[in-house]
Amino acid sequence: MSSPTPHPGNMYAGERDNVAALKAAYPYQFTEPNSWSYSWPDGWHHLVEEACAGLSRLNPDSRWVQIKEKYGGLRLYHAGGPLRLDLHTRAGFHSFSVKREDGPTQPPKLLELIASLEETSLETCCLCGGVHGSGRGITVGGWVITACETCEPLIRAHRALPYGER
Ligand SMILES: [Zn+2]
Repeated sequence: MSSPTPHPGNMYAGERDNVAALKAAYPYQFTEPNSWSYSWPDGWHHLVEEACAGLSRLNPDSRWVQIKEKYGGLRLYHAGGPLRLDLHTRAGFHSFSVKREDGPTQPPKLLELIASLEETSLETCCLCGGVHGSGRGITVGGWVITACETCEPLIRAHRALPYGER
């Protein structure tokens, strides 16, 4: 059960409503049966909205396989899209897109849009969406989170709560 007044640092407080809103607007894009397939922080909802509009416009036959946050960035995986390769090295974290040789050809404009939205997420606070300032990567309890200076202490306070109280 979620509490009636969400903690101000909970970047997933609006998740259920946000996912439901886009599922209602684009039902054919959200066909995965698992609820964990679609999950994004509140501050990035406008980026996901833009992605859905773009997918509908540029490849109406495609759908989202998974939408999530990973290493502080938004990940938009669509059916027929490129394979993703994530590497952790001592020099840092690297993510690559690998074009499928045998897969369907994706409209280049769609791939560009998705890449640009994912890149934008790395500078967009995942709590306020950049209203209070630009996001940058911070580490909270081993997790990389993209947050602005105003939201960082709120997020830290929320994450410091025991699991049952979040
Ligand atoms: Zn913020």
